[in-house]
Parts: sequence; structure tokens; C-alpha cells
Amino acid sequence: KFNFSDFGQKFTRESAILQLMDDLGQALGQDGVNMLGGGNPARIPAVNAVFAEVLRDLAQVDGAAAMVENIGNYSEPQGDRAFLQTVAAFLRRHYGWDVSADNIALTNGSQNAFFYLFNLFGGAFTDANGQTQQKSVLLPLAPEYVGYADTPVGGGGFVAVPPRIETATFQGQDGFFKYRVDFDALEQLPQWADGSIGAVCCSRPTNPTGNVLTDAEMARLDALAQSRGVPLIIDNAYGMPFPNIIHTPAQLNWHENIILCFSLSKVGLPGVRCGIVVAHPQIVRALAALNAVVNLAPTRFGAAVAAPLLANDCLKTLSEQHIRPFYRAQTETALRLLREAMPDVPLRVHVPEGAIFLWLWFEGLPQGTGELYRRLKAQGTLVLPGEPFFVGMDTADYPHARECIRISIAQDEAVLARGIAAIAAAVRDLYRDG
Ligand code: PLP
Repeated sequence: KFNFSDFGQKFTRESAILQLMDDLGQALGQDGVNMLGGGNPARIPAVNAVFAEVLRDLAQVDGAAAMVENIGNYSEPQGDRAFLQTVAAFLRRHYGWDVSADNIALTNGSQNAFFYLFNLFGGAFTDANGQTQQKSVLLPLAPEYVGYADTPVGGGGFVAVPPRIETATFQGQDGFFKYRVDFDALEQLPQWADGSIGAVCCSRPTNPTGNVLTDAEMARLDALAQSRGVPLIIDNAYGMPFPNIIHTPAQLNWHENIILCFSLSKVGLPGVRCGIVVAHPQIVRALAALNAVVNLAPTRFGAAVAAPLLANDCLKTLSEQHIRPFYRAQTETALRLLREAMPDVPLRVHVPEGAIFLWLWFEGLPQGTGELYRRLKAQGTLVLPGEPFFVGMDTADYPHARECIRISIAQDEAVLARGIAAIAAAVRDLYRDG
């Protein structure tokens, strides 16, 4: 009945992220679904208890006066000023960075930040002579977070470099692989020569693979971005110091050419929608301006919950003592279940270095993992097919993209076991029937 604009059509078509969030929402309301899709964090009792305590304190102190004040007012478009200062003090205290509130902007979840950033640094640029050029955002290592894919409003989009795939062992066991940045291909991209790359972006730890780019890889990406005069966007949604779901040694660096994006979601607060961007003040002012137009102001609720936990370092301690060990144990459980369920299947797992997923590679899988996803969903097990994660890559001649799936390890052992058993059966059928 209604006609939507080009913008409307672009943002309302069946995107992979819409499918993912729809699956997630429907699974939450249903019993008996083995939810290994989506990116919902786990409910960890010790973490829940801390959040409940903060909420009680907020409600009790002075009859909730400060909380009512907080939710009774808009914040400024850059975000709640007191919280910005708390974040800056936290980062100075732990990392020694020269940051103030002017370096920090809040957004309604970090997804919201990526929408802004990819449209600030990608899309059409018009120079002083009126010449227009389309710029892309470079993802140095595919596969990457599927939520980036549909964010660009105009042209340009993403350019991604396929990974170098190395076989690997994990805890002395075979059957693993690791993606590494192909720097030769990256540095020789023709898009550098014509200036059509507007920014470089990577998630670390990476969703979907659980890869943690090494410090050497990060240093090289940082140097490359600086030498080409574009910012390096680091998506730290699973990184340190919160939720700190990293199992390899890694450093976190920041300077004014780096745009560092944090999220409160994976510590267990996805419902408060709070993203934190640390960047050059010019970028922070741009994000605040975008917030004003799109949201007036970002939500204050997440900032109110997180402020005391950052001020007393509780969020950092919780991450070290509960969140990281929880996902570490989940990783072990999922790997054991996979080994038990599929001894006869040519399965390889990406080395689990962080985040809340395992990335499984079924080499040569007939019909591909899109079909595997559909068969599993019909039987009540949700996983994510690999291909949509190859954002910015033409996967037509790249079968590897159709041989991988992402499974979440946030669920309890019973759900993991049922889900993995269902995957094993469906994969065996596909290999057998061709
Ligand atoms: N970046 C990565 C790598 C993610 O996995 C997610 C969510 O799953 C996001 C960003 C966006 O999260 P949020 O908007 O909840 O901060």
C-alpha cells in the first residue's frame, strides 16, 4: 500500500542482521529452541548480583533522587557529562592515555556508533572543486561482524581482504585453524592509490571467529592507517578492560588517529544500549551532532548503572574474575561436546582466542551452510551461516565462506549439547547425500 523511499527500501530489506535479531527475539519467547545464534551475552549469577545491587542502591539512596534526576532529564548530545568524566578518569588511571571528556561520546549501543562512523568516513566526499568521490571502509580481515554490512547510507560500502588461513593446534590438539591478515594484499589494494578508502576497521576479539589480532598485526594496521591519513576504528565490544573476553596476551592502545569503541552489552547489559567511543575531539563533536539529530541525546540509564562500577573498578574486576573465566569454561565445554559429537566429520575450529562464539569450518560441505542453517532452524536449532560475515567481499568464487558457521557459547551445557548434536546430525546428512 505504501511506497518507501530508496533509503527506506535499503534499510527495510531482509538484511542478515535483521534476520539474526528476529531469530533471537523469537527464540527468547520459545521453549525448546537451541539458541546458538544471536549475540546475547550469558546471564552469569555473580554479574547479575552486582547489577541488582547497583539498581537497589540507585533506588534507595535519597529515595532515588539522583536516579530520578538522571532519567528525568535529557543528557547533552555527547552523553551524560558526569559519566564522560568517569570514563576519562578510568582510562587515564588504567592506561595512562591523555584523554578528557572531550575525547568521549556515548551512543545508543555501539551498533549506533558504527552506523555514524561508517557514514562519517565512508560514502560520498566532495572536494573544494566540486569533485565527488565514493570512499569505502576497509575491513583488513574478512570475515567480520555482520552488523556492519548494511549500515552505509550511500555508496562506497566496504572493501575486505580475504584471510590467510593457517592450520593450528589448540592445547596440543589438532583440528584448529587461524586467520591472519594478508598484509601483502592489504597494502597493495588499488583503492589506496586512488584515495578511496576512508577508514580501516576491525573487531578485536573478532565476531564471528573469536580471533584476536596480534599486537604485531594491530601495530601494522595502526601504522598503515596513519601513513594513509585515515583513522583506525577498533571495535572493542569483547575486548579489555570490559568484558575482557580475551584469552591471549594483548595490549590495548589508543591515540588520536584511533577510534576506540566500547560497549556495555557483552558484560551483560545489552538492554541499556550504551556504546562508548574514544576519539579525537573533532570526531566526538561530530558524533554528538549526529546524536542530536537522530536521538536528541543518548540514553542515560546505562551510564547511571555503569558509572559506579567504573568509578570503583568493579566492572574491570568482574570481567577478570567472572566474565572471562565463564566464557573460557564455556569454550572448553563446547570444544569437548564438538569432539564427542563429530569425531567422524571434517570439522576444523578457529582457535578460540576470545569473544563468545566458536567459528566452525566444514570443508567441502555439500550445499553449503546456508542450507545447513535452514535445516537446523526448521528443527529448532539456531546457528549463523558464515557467508553474510564476509562483508565487503565477493564470495561467489570463495567456497570457504559457505563452509563456516558461527555458534554462540553463551548458553548452558544442556543447550550446547542438544544444539551441537543437531548440528552433527545435519552435517552428516549433507556430507552423505552430497
Ligand atoms: N560490535 C561487535 C563485534 C558485536 O558483536 C556487536 C554486537 O553483537 C556490536 C558491535 C554491537 O553491540 P551493541 O550495539 O550492543 O553495543
